[in-house]
Amino acid sequence: MPHEFKTIIEPFKIKTVEPIHFTTYEHRRAVLEEAGYNLFLLHADDVLIDLLTDSGTGAMSSEQWAGMMRGDESYAGARSFYRFEEAVQEITGYTHVIPTHQGRAAERILFGALCRPGDVVPNNNHFDTTRANIEYRGAEARDLVADAGRHPQLIHPFKGNIDLDALEATVDEVGAENIPLVMLTITNNAGGGQPVSMANIRAVSELCKRHNLLFILDACRFAENAWFIKQREQGYADMTPREIAHEMFGYADGCTMSAKKDGLANIGGFLALNDPPYDGQRYLDLPQRCKNQLILTEGFPTYGGLAGYDLEAIAVGLREVLHEDYLRYRIRSTAYLGDKLTAAGVPIVQPPGGHAIYIDARSMLPHIPPHEYPAQALAVALYLEAGIRAVEIGQVMFGRPVAAGFEEPGPLDLVRLTIPRRVYTQSHIDYVAEAIEHVNIAKDRIRGLRIVWQAPALRHFSARFEPA
Ligand SMILES: *Cc1c(COP(=O)(O)O)cnc(C)c1O
Repeated sequence: MPHEFKTIIEPFKIKTVEPIHFTTYEHRRAVLEEAGYNLFLLHADDVLIDLLTDSGTGAMSSEQWAGMMRGDESYAGARSFYRFEEAVQEITGYTHVIPTHQGRAAERILFGALCRPGDVVPNNNHFDTTRANIEYRGAEARDLVADAGRHPQLIHPFKGNIDLDALEATVDEVGAENIPLVMLTITNNAGGGQPVSMANIRAVSELCKRHNLLFILDACRFAENAWFIKQREQGYADMTPREIAHEMFGYADGCTMSAKKDGLANIGGFLALNDPPYDGQRYLDLPQRCKNQLILTEGFPTYGGLAGYDLEAIAVGLREVLHEDYLRYRIRSTAYLGDKLTAAGVPIVQPPGGHAIYIDARSMLPHIPPHEYPAQALAVALYLEAGIRAVEIGQVMFGRPVAAGFEEPGPLDLVRLTIPRRVYTQSHIDYVAEAIEHVNIAKDRIRGLRIVWQAPALRHFSARFEPA
């Protein structure tokens, strides 16, 4: 019998390296103060390990770089577009493939063509750009994640599932004619990168068909979702991630996609659609109307705001992201950090999601009340101690001042450690785990923060703080 290896190694070797920058404690203290204790305002060169986001921060493969050299920059009908279109069609099965510069551009075009004031768009959890683009059309973005997804410590295999009863109740309440589309985000980014089961996707599809509703996937992390289905859902263990992805896409009428996630590219996205199976003014010529809008704001339909070389990088990335070796490593390496933190007694959202680990800062730092931003304080401490940049997802991001000096506490204060794709090795992650264990031991010394300046909207990007 061949030996069964337990160690899951990075399924690549390194051909190009980019130095990272070590800084002193004193330097970090000085630049933190200068940045008003807001990690978005740091220079990236002052960061040693950057876990701010997994969006566009991945490393491309030698095949992707080779593809970039083959990029055809013809304005119309470029070879690179046809390669991109073929890759998207192969995986999704959708007829119309519309390239965009990012996921949010695909959202804006789709919602612009479909949504009217007063409409309701259900989703498990809307990502922030998705919500903002729906609200910009005067429609309501309604989150209907199933109950398991609302409890951070609860272990459940598919915490990204939508609540089917709540979806049915929403249709009864507002009427199918006021629901231009139903969305499902795979994996559920705003809900901790948790997967959605195939059974749930299938059930949403059946419900939508029964009520003549258009069903669109927010597919940014479709490959990670496919891997979770393979691991956790009965009947899928012997299918390839590609076959599972094809089945997922087959239940929906189209998708929006950010290629900065599971496209393994640094920029790009797309909207892919079948011809809507329903009659009515709303759906009339939908793909063509989206392409008309694309020409107005993004570019001609064979490049959509991207360079030919970007289309090549995405075409290759979409195939690489479905490799089993890659997905096994990707999901395992995220869980590896989660397991280390759990063993050290650090409270995290369970079970680990696909692209990030979320520390429950409110339970870790009970001495800091929500209005002194425990998650921001923890993220700042982690940078100060170890040069690691994480992102606050809590009171700073979602809280709003309701009266002078008073804020309603939000539901959670999390610190997200987002893992860029194929960028950091196991020793980098060991360093991150050691740093967090160290911060956890001395956590009683961490002080809260107070806001000294904030913008009226999306304050987390630019707010300035000082120690409380
Ligand atoms: C990143 C993301 C988007 C938006 O994509 P961008 O490329 O950042 O515009 C939409 N939905 C989800 C779930 C995402 O993670």
